[in-house]
Amino acid sequence: MGEAKRRGSQAERAEQARAKLAALRPAQLVCGACKTAFGTFDAIDAPNLRGIDAVFGGQCPNCGNDVLVFKGEPNAVADAMVAWEKMMGADTKLGYQSRDGKHVPFEGE
Ligand SMILES: [Zn+2]
Repeated sequence: MGEAKRRGSQAERAEQARAKLAALRPAQLVCGACKTAFGTFDAIDAPNLRGIDAVFGGQCPNCGNDVLVFKGEPNAVADAMVAWEKMMGADTKLGYQSRDGKHVPFEGE
């Protein structure tokens, strides 16, 4: 107490960002094409997506599709999925993370 603490150095901020990302990370992604669940995937840097807290992506070990999951405000997630689909084409299987932390594949139709 009484000692002024300098908070938010660059290293601390990076550490906080990592911790936040780790907390957001789902246990697994689910392939929208073949429903295979897998746990090997990466956090994707997507700073330009408003309302999106995190994006995770990996390749389905069963069918090879790229699987991408967005975490954030529901409306922002919907917008991001549409934008991403336009940008990346239909080969990427998109999804979002439900409130209980489960990955929900997005079924386009
Ligand atoms: Zn698959």
